[in-house]
Amino acid sequence: MTTATVVGSGPNGLAAAVTLARAGLTVTVLEAADEIGGGTRSFEAIVPGLLHDHCSAIHPMAVGSPFVTGFGLERHGLRWRLPEIDCVHPLDDGRAGVLRRSVDDTAAGLGADGRVWKALFGRPADRFEAIEDAVMGPLLRLPDHPLALARFGAPTVLPAAVLARAFRTPQARALWGGVAAHAFRPLHLPLTSAIGVGIITAGHRHGWAVAEGGSRAVTAAMAALLRELGGTVETGVPVRGRADLPPADITVFDLAPEAVADILGDRLPARVRRAYRAFRRGPGAFKVDFAVEGGVPWTNPDARRAGTVHVGGTFAEIAAAERDIHAGRMPERPFVLVAQQYLADPQRSVGNIHPVWSYAHVPHGYTGDATEAVITQIERFAPGFRDRIVGYRAETTDGLARFNANFTGGDILTGAKDVRQLVFGPRITLSPYATGAPGYYLCSAATPPGPGAHGMCGFHAARAALRDLAAT
Ligand SMILES: Cc1cc2nc3c(=O)[nH]c(=O)nc-3n(C[C@H](O)[C@H](O)[C@H](O)COP(=O)(O)OP(=O)(O)OC[C@H]3O[C@@H](n4cnc5c(N)ncnc54)[C@H](O)[C@@H]3O)c2cc1C
Repeated sequence: MTTATVVGSGPNGLAAAVTLARAGLTVTVLEAADEIGGGTRSFEAIVPGLLHDHCSAIHPMAVGSPFVTGFGLERHGLRWRLPEIDCVHPLDDGRAGVLRRSVDDTAAGLGADGRVWKALFGRPADRFEAIEDAVMGPLLRLPDHPLALARFGAPTVLPAAVLARAFRTPQARALWGGVAAHAFRPLHLPLTSAIGVGIITAGHRHGWAVAEGGSRAVTAAMAALLRELGGTVETGVPVRGRADLPPADITVFDLAPEAVADILGDRLPARVRRAYRAFRRGPGAFKVDFAVEGGVPWTNPDARRAGTVHVGGTFAEIAAAERDIHAGRMPERPFVLVAQQYLADPQRSVGNIHPVWSYAHVPHGYTGDATEAVITQIERFAPGFRDRIVGYRAETTDGLARFNANFTGGDILTGAKDVRQLVFGPRITLSPYATGAPGYYLCSAATPPGPGAHGMCGFHAARAALRDLAAT
């Protein structure tokens, strides 16, 4: 009997567990928290029955993820729901950049910039299936469709601020800037277009979907499949050192690299241990969940129908706010992401009270309370919002780290996405999932293809482990 232990039951841990179990291994998942799911957990807190997503909310990268589709998670209850409009970026004058599922419809709404939007995203979105494997895996591989990938990849190397110059209207520039800012990087730096181009292209292909019944449905489906394959999950079991690990042929860590260095200690080659300890962290998130009577009264009518609203004003304002948080300064007007999942999944509401999800980009480890800054930013584009708040729950950067050690300092991407870590993961190597200690692998969002509830880091890590097993 070949055995595997997976430490951590986030989407990547469970994806690794399912992939190993399907290959015939006997798999046990050890999870520190009392509940499975890591960054996909959902909860009720403010009003009984009102359902909030703790972390991941919107899933353009997960819907078509080769792992999610390939393992038939819908058979285990995963249903995607799409909002009428994917994403809106309102400006002070009431106008907005509007991202619709269709490239043509988005382009039609962007006026003078429609042609550029279509040129950038049209072909890659049409050919997304051909490039998805390459985009959703380690970047340093020989692609199956090099031309399609080159067309997709060329703009990704640019700083987002340079790509923004391709647009003339403030709406298109802001719309692009808001999505590019998902990288939590100063937008004038190289490769800061990569994450934004990936999200927009995947969104045009698959939509900015929410999971019916809360994001917890993503990992609930993975856990159900794992059980069907004979695997088990034990909750309330933190792994702090090697002594906590049961003997197994393969051990896969859905953890941040620093944590793996602490657990494995000198079992790791010295160079790997040094690289894991030197892992660079990104800025933080300050999360605020609201219960809102009647929903957010956005001035822009499209924002009232959108699953996601990016709140931060013009491209220049967002760029300045991202520069500030990178430098450790809390901006007066932070970039705020708002999600209204209930528009696509109405069962999350209680009568006319709706759950509204938001977080602000803040400096790493920010210790202040950003709640007022978040409310003021939303109120700026939705006057009267404050009066509709029935209750709220704020989560500091420290609270996020206590909820899940992978989010140290509020770094929800599990690591800064600078050029080196975006391309290679925690260390420069062609096998980003191997730890250098035989039988031990890393599968968290710190590895390629990076953050999101798509499970692809876990899937690739498990396949690397299975290849090594077959070679021994
Ligand atoms: C506020 C916020 C908003 C986000 N929004 C989105 C979004 O809209 N869309 C999207 O796709 N992604 C989003 N993300 C990112 C997404 O949640 C993560 O990228 C994803 O969850 C990473 O999955 P993972 O499996 O690598 O790790 P995680 O989900 O972090 O899971 C790691 C698991 O390991 C457990 N663990 C940690 N240490 C130990 C230990 N020592 N022993 C045992 N278990 C341990 C943790 O409890 C956790 O369950 C968001 C994240 C946050 C925090």
